[in-house]
Amino acid sequence: MLAGAATEDHGDPRSSRGLWRDSFGHRGDDTAATRRQNDDMRSDDDLATLSAATIAVAGGRPPHEPDAPLNSPLTPASVFVAGGDREYGRYSNPSWEPFEEVLGRLEGGRALAFSSGLAVVAAIIDLVSPGEVVVAPRHAYLGTLQQLATKEQRGQLKVRMVDVSDTAAVLDACEDAALVWLESPTNPALEVADIPAVVDGAHEAGARVVVDNTFATPLLQRPLTLGADIVMHSATKYLAGHSDAVLGAAVTTDDATFAALDGQRRLLGSIPGTLETWLAVRGMRTLHLRVERAQQNARTLLPRLESHRAVDQVRYPGFGGIIAIEVRGGAPAADLLTRSTRLWVHATSLGGVESTFERRRRWQSEQATIPENLVRMSVGVEDVEDLWADLSRALDGLAHA
Ligand code: PLP
Repeated sequence: MLAGAATEDHGDPRSSRGLWRDSFGHRGDDTAATRRQNDDMRSDDDLATLSAATIAVAGGRPPHEPDAPLNSPLTPASVFVAGGDREYGRYSNPSWEPFEEVLGRLEGGRALAFSSGLAVVAAIIDLVSPGEVVVAPRHAYLGTLQQLATKEQRGQLKVRMVDVSDTAAVLDACEDAALVWLESPTNPALEVADIPAVVDGAHEAGARVVVDNTFATPLLQRPLTLGADIVMHSATKYLAGHSDAVLGAAVTTDDATFAALDGQRRLLGSIPGTLETWLAVRGMRTLHLRVERAQQNARTLLPRLESHRAVDQVRYPGFGGIIAIEVRGGAPAADLLTRSTRLWVHATSLGGVESTFERRRRWQSEQATIPENLVRMSVGVEDVEDLWADLSRALDGLAHA
């Protein structure tokens, strides 16, 4: 049996292995959480036609009944009275469900919340059978690449690195692969993949496709509608959006994949905190406003950065709120920049309301092919003229240094 039944059953780890080749037919989609989500999907079909902005605001709310709270309350509970579906706090919690419902609707599948983005990465790549091949971006979030590298060093899988923007190279690498991992845009190089072309080629070769949609958000890109098998998020970033919660999520349209990931979450114990999912729902109520404003601000800053003499190169994928610049004067100048602003915060992570930036190679584990002077900028939702005044003053200072 696949991990997942709502009994005192921690699942059989072996049954969820080999997912990519032979586990898609497994029974196991009758868990409490799955049944509830299915019921929700059926009961309010009317929500299905709503726009993303409305889903962000109205999704996952309790029924409109007298004295009902408008939004779902926080339910800190580790145990539930027996006789129902929930049983234990590692299996389900009502506080996870509004987040999963909103994200599932936005992405066009069913969502599962995890303790972090990297917990999702671990849960997914753990399903790759021993010795199988994973095609992965040469540039991607360093934690994802480190997980893959560690598994490869232990002989658990084989990794083929590709430039995701080189579709022909990705398709060549798909042969015999079990899984194609895409990040698009990539972190921090901002390369963009042709998702439909990669999905077609990967499926033809018998491989599944996962897209890390953290940078784009479902408002700018919906990989499941392009044929991807799983979408994942570091919900820590744009979805929660306020730099106050670490959270991850996986979304899929496939029942067996959903059941396998639910089983992984229970078995590995990589469950989200109730406060974190509650905060993320609150954050997602304004996701459309924040993403739109961040993108607008980024597009305003773009030509100004391109023409500034302290900036050698600017990368922008064409959408979203993340820009990467290469600062003239190498790593020392880039470091000086990140120390010279008042409004822009020198901090890792991204996707919050606040504008943050960092030189990525300050992390030893960052890929060596990322330039030493690359500063990844997460443009926030502040007034763009205030942002530019702060940034241009710091850049002018470099030019004169
Ligand atoms: N994926 C991307 C694209 C990221 O940028 C990050 C974190 O920066 C992760 C995954 C990992 O997510 P988390 O930090 O929530 O574990």
